[in-house]
Amino acid sequence: MVKHVKLGKSDISVNPIGLGTNAVGGHNLYPNMLDEEQGKNVVRTALDNGINLLDTAFIYGPKRSEELIGEVIREYNREDVVVATKAAHKFVGNDTVMDNSPAFLKQGVEDALKRLQTDYIDLFYIHFPDEDTPKAEAVGALKELKDQGKIRSIGVSNFSLDQLKEANQDGYVDVLQGEYNLLKRDAEKTYFPYTSENNITFIPYFPLESGLLAGKYDKDSTFSDLRADNPNFQGQQFLDNLEKIDKVREIADKYGEEVAHIVLAWYFTQPSVDVIIPGAKRPDQVLSNQRAAEISLSEEDVKKISDIFA
Ligand code: NAP
Repeated sequence: MVKHVKLGKSDISVNPIGLGTNAVGGHNLYPNMLDEEQGKNVVRTALDNGINLLDTAFIYGPKRSEELIGEVIREYNREDVVVATKAAHKFVGNDTVMDNSPAFLKQGVEDALKRLQTDYIDLFYIHFPDEDTPKAEAVGALKELKDQGKIRSIGVSNFSLDQLKEANQDGYVDVLQGEYNLLKRDAEKTYFPYTSENNITFIPYFPLESGLLAGKYDKDSTFSDLRADNPNFQGQQFLDNLEKIDKVREIADKYGEEVAHIVLAWYFTQPSVDVIIPGAKRPDQVLSNQRAAEISLSEEDVKKISDIFA
C-alpha cells in the first residue's frame, strides 16, 4: 500500500494521489463531456481503489459536483473519505465576483455541507482571493469554523505569495492549491521556498495541463472545451509541447510506464508537493494515474525532465 501523507499541519492523512473532480458534474467547465452517472463512477473507482482525497468546489457545476460527491460519499464510511471543497465565487446579476468576507465564507461552508450531505468538510479552501477582505480576517473565519468542527483544515487557492503570507500570519494555513505543472513552473520560485519552510502542502492543479501532459495528443488533435482558450493547445506552442512530451516518452519507455505516470511522479520530487489531484473523466484514468505514486525516478531522469521543460 502506498504511504499516506499529512495535509500541512493537520492530522489528515491522504493517499498522495487524490482525485480532481471538476469534470464530475462540472457541466459549466466541460459541457457534454461526461454524464452524471459516469462522473459518480469515476469517484467510486477512486474510493474503491485507495484514493481518499476528493477535490471539488462550489463553482464546478456550479454546485453539481459537490452534490454528486455528496451522493457517492454516503455509500462509504465517512471517515474513509477526505473531502476538499472551495468557495469564493458570488453571483451578482450576470457577474461573478469573489468574496472572502467572513460572513460569505461561513455561509459558503454551511451551503457546501448541505450539498455534500455531511457534517464536516475535511479541507476547505478560499478558492480565489477577493480585493477587499484582509486575508488574515478571512482565514480567521475559517479557524472559527475549524474550532466548531465544521471544517478540519484550512486551504487557500490562487493566492499571491503576499496574500498567502498574510493569510498564514497566525500559522493557520495547511494547504496552498495553485496552478503548477511542467509547462508552468513559476510556483517553484514563487511559492515553494515559503510553503516548505512553513509546513504548507502545495497541491498543484492542472498537473497534466488538462490532459496535454498525458501524452496522448498529436498535431491533428482539436479542442472545444476550456482547452480551446489555452495557448499551450494552440499553434506552434502546441507543436513545441508535443515535441517535449515525445522526449518524456523516451524516458517513460525506459521505465515501461506511460507518459502521464512519469509526469505525475516527477511532481513528487519537488519541495512541498506531497499530494497531487489529477482530474479524470473515466475510471481507467483514475486507476492509471495511481501508478505515479509507485514510481521512483532516478536523479538523472528528474533532471532530464526538468531540462526538457526548462
Ligand atoms: P489535469 O489534472 O491537468 O487534467 C485532467 C485531464 O487529463 C482529465 O480530465 C483527462 O481529460 C486527462 N487525463 C487524466 N488522466 C489521464 C490519463 N491517465 N491518461 C490520459 N489522459 C488523462 O486538469 P484538471 O482536472 O482540470 O485539474 C485537476 C484538478 O484540480 C481539477 O479536477 C480540480 O479539482 C482542480 N482545479 C483547481 C483549480 C483552482 O482554481 N483551485 C483550477 C483548476 C483545477 P481528457 O480525457 O479529456 O483528456
